[in-house]
Amino acid sequence: MTTNTEAKTYLNYINGEWSASDTGKTSESFNPSNKNEVLGSFQLSSANDLDQAVKAAKDAQKPWRNLSGTARGEFLFKVANVLESKVEYVAEAMTKEMGKTFAEAKGETMRGVAILRYYAGEGMRPVGDVIPSSDSEALMFTTRTPLGVVGVITPWNFPVAIPIWKMAPALIYGNSVVLKPASDTAVTAARVVECFDEAGLPAGVINMVTGSGSVIGQGLAEHPGVDGITFTGSNAVGKQIGRAALDRGIKYQLEMGGKNPVIVADDADLDLAVDATISGGLKSTGQKCTATSRVIVQSGVYEEFREKLVKKVAEITVGNGMEGSSWMGPVASENQLDNVLSYIEKGKSEGAELLHGGNRLTENGLGDGYFVEPTVFDNVTAGMTIAREEIFGPVLALMKVETMEEAIALANDSDYGLSASIFTTNIGNMLEFIKDMEAGLVRVNAESAGVELQAPFGGMKQSSSHSREQGQAAIEFFTSIKTIFVKN
Ligand code: NAP
Ligand code: MG
Repeated sequence: MTTNTEAKTYLNYINGEWSASDTGKTSESFNPSNKNEVLGSFQLSSANDLDQAVKAAKDAQKPWRNLSGTARGEFLFKVANVLESKVEYVAEAMTKEMGKTFAEAKGETMRGVAILRYYAGEGMRPVGDVIPSSDSEALMFTTRTPLGVVGVITPWNFPVAIPIWKMAPALIYGNSVVLKPASDTAVTAARVVECFDEAGLPAGVINMVTGSGSVIGQGLAEHPGVDGITFTGSNAVGKQIGRAALDRGIKYQLEMGGKNPVIVADDADLDLAVDATISGGLKSTGQKCTATSRVIVQSGVYEEFREKLVKKVAEITVGNGMEGSSWMGPVASENQLDNVLSYIEKGKSEGAELLHGGNRLTENGLGDGYFVEPTVFDNVTAGMTIAREEIFGPVLALMKVETMEEAIALANDSDYGLSASIFTTNIGNMLEFIKDMEAGLVRVNAESAGVELQAPFGGMKQSSSHSREQGQAAIEFFTSIKTIFVKN
């Protein structure tokens, strides 16, 4: 047992101060590689704490908005520099709190740095158009105005990149922020907020309140002082937040689950397709919203692909993400473990054939963690639960098709539409897929997971409320357009 007796208690960040909740209650954050290791405690806050954060954000927003975009950008550049200097400090919390390997955690933290720099630069870019008026003596143009106070609700799977890809554009366009991070990664979130604090952002411009989703998350969505809400997480919660926002008439953005397919055509480079299926499906232990889940393979190469895939999956090393030898860490929590194992049971009971894995790993010191074998199912059909619901774990479902038409139809046979990829050397296949695939992110000869910060990101169908995040798309959510007509 390696209980950390020096585990720190992390506080809320309200109006530029670190403060304890008035409830006096905290909750512990555990390491999914070893549930006896406590990384720290965080505040189980109340509606009253949230009120204070929203009030601080409201008071800070106008002076912040009144700074020039360049001046706001300078603050974001400073945050980027602080975060860059603390990559290991932040990434270590991430690995110890939700399990992804330290290499991936450092990569994600550096992504956060790059996102901050990208949006810092946005403070100097155009925000409107001049539109010719029918009155020759008038000047007509558009500008952008911030929403006001933006509530940011984030999941545990990208505990650094997602809060930053929401907060950085919110801030650069003149909004203030109240962040409610996932409880499973509240310590990592606190370390990110420490960087904003150290960079000297004006008090109240960013606030963080930790606590339960139903009290602080829902409270934020329903709060009369909040002018916009941006959420990433599960569909069930997203829909609830959307309804609350609609009732209040505020702008909302929901980025939710996926059931992402990869198609492997008869003419594909099979080694490339195998590597990308493994990387897309099993990196981060399959817990990316863009993770490959359904593997749709044309019959001519099905057996060969399956053999190559299983051989490589069998070589994956599973272990504590802080150890360099681990390619795949644990799932993030006990809840995740139960979910993933129950989907594996459903796969078996509904008649899919378990080709590889399928079990919890408890030997070799893994017994105190939430480790699952990388798992591959064969003979999966469209109606099975494991072909329809988001598993959010290291589970691949192989599905056989005869034609490319059938492959694309099967890929589209899903409530979700986040990302999708195809492996083919045939230009006709590529073009059909690009045209017909119902997904916000469509990738050719590249894995389904893989997002570039300068490009729009978001899903179709049940994966999103149909707005987009990141890149230039972010301005659409975080601002309103004002059309201005001026006459002398
Ligand atoms: P989740 O359970 O929906 O939680 C997301 C956030 O909502 C957390 O901060 C959570 O707080 C909060 N929350 C929970 N109940 C709430 C309520 N009733 N009202 C308001 N907020 C509430 O999702 P998760 O398990 O953390 O994340 C996994 C999901 O995120 C997957 O479905 C994945 O596909 C999706 N995801 C999507 C994208 C994308 O860009 N499309 C990216 C990453 C992840 P607590 O932690 O305190 O419960
Ligand atoms: Mg959750």
